Amino acid sequence: MRGGREWHVQPISAAQALKPYRCPGCGGVVDEGVAHVVVWRADGVLGDQADLEARRHWHAACWRVA
Ligand SMILES: [Zn+2]
Repeated sequence: MRGGREWHVQPISAAQALKPYRCPGCGGVVDEGVAHVVVWRADGVLGDQADLEARRHWHAACWRVA
């Protein structure tokens, strides 16, 4: 629960991180091979599929302090 919304937070291991992503928390790159988290809304009005497609990759530390 954060910002009045429910979020799914899925940990991604280093072995699963196969390409770089832009972290919305710090604007930096989550490099491939770096363990991080994937976050998407759990209460989106468009349904789970749309929320999944809109998921974001965050540095684990950025998500914790955001
Ligand atoms: Zn970050």
